[in-house]
Amino acid sequence: MFHTFLIKYGEIGVKGKNRFIFEAALEKQIRRALKSVDGIFETSREKGRIYVECSGDFDFEDTVEALTHVFGIVGICPVMVTEDDSLEAMGRNIVTFLEETYASHEQSFKVDTRRAKKTYPVPSMEVSAYLGGRVLDAFPEMKVDVHEPEILVHVEIRDRVYMYSRVIPGPGGMPVGTNGRSMLLLSGGIDSPVAGYMIAKRGVEIDAVYFHAPPYTSERAKQKVVDLAKEVSVYSGPMRLHVINFTDIQLYIYEKCPHDQLTIIMRRYMMKIAERIAQDTGALALITGESIGQVASQTVQSLAVTNEVCALPVFRPLIGFDKQDIIDISLKIGTYDTSILPFEDCCTIFVAKHPVTKPNLKSIVKSEQNLTEKIDQLVEEALASDEVIEIG
Ligand code: ATP
Ligand code: MG
Repeated sequence: MFHTFLIKYGEIGVKGKNRFIFEAALEKQIRRALKSVDGIFETSREKGRIYVECSGDFDFEDTVEALTHVFGIVGICPVMVTEDDSLEAMGRNIVTFLEETYASHEQSFKVDTRRAKKTYPVPSMEVSAYLGGRVLDAFPEMKVDVHEPEILVHVEIRDRVYMYSRVIPGPGGMPVGTNGRSMLLLSGGIDSPVAGYMIAKRGVEIDAVYFHAPPYTSERAKQKVVDLAKEVSVYSGPMRLHVINFTDIQLYIYEKCPHDQLTIIMRRYMMKIAERIAQDTGALALITGESIGQVASQTVQSLAVTNEVCALPVFRPLIGFDKQDIIDISLKIGTYDTSILPFEDCCTIFVAKHPVTKPNLKSIVKSEQNLTEKIDQLVEEALASDEVIEIG
């Protein structure tokens, strides 16, 4: 019965000229999300509404699931569309609608009618009253409640008649493509995929960079990052994953710098390299999964020292989150199971027993002077090792 979905979206950011950009991006993202669902889908825009129509066979659940991954959507309403807009036909159809949508029929309800077709001869209130009467005739146990109805049936008289009551929540946010592009530092952990998700949710297109340290980090560790990128791309849309060979830089830092400073110096080089790739690819900011105090390299002092190497803004959407909050999001978006697979990442292998927790910028810069001889060349080699994997 439901071959059409009315897509509700937030009003914020949809004012003035932005409205067109927002709606066009949303429609594009809806079409992208539905590509992986069997069926023929058409989207259309009409007076501040987006409709998705499905012709032929399609899987209702899969379609709804795909739509719940599209940022910008706040509600997905399965709509019954009928041709005949006579009162008699609408009366029959609202009964069918309730029969098919609800298993029991003893709830309170209200009918809310709108005439988008202004030539329709009967005033909206009268249509609602008439349809309410037909519902009560068919389901005597139901009762009208105009203030807090359990079921609110929307009836819209347009070129055809649209009826819907259920609103399935969407993810909210803004359609990807409305807010530029950023570069996610994606590791195999729990945090960075969630960070990417959160920034994509604000309409930002994402690319990712992973620092790989073979043979210290295995092919399976890399595959895990590829899998995480795929999982994030279900929401963010296609992304490019840059895999950078970081081994020589790590070994060189290990050889030349105090071991309690390894992580922080390594993180500074990751940021520098990520920034270089961002500049080449048109990304306007970096994204990390850092959160204050989570580990030694994420104290406020460490974050300040890490941040110091970058000119681009660094988005840290998890900065004030507790670990459990982050885990909850990763479970909700479906990255958790992949994140907890046990493959080593480069940070865990080279980590010192007692890393500095309050690094001092001067002393870090001084240690980095030990790297002068080869580091610029190693950074260029790392950039040249860039393997680009197209995701999604
Ligand atoms: P995550 O769960 O995202 O791995 P974490 O708690 O393990 O985070 P760190 O290892 O200190 O924290 O890393 C902090 C951030 O630095 C990560 O969230 C990620 O953005 C980035 N990062 C760390 N290691 C890598 C890597 N090998 N490749 C790309 N980015 C990385
Ligand atoms: Mg990590």
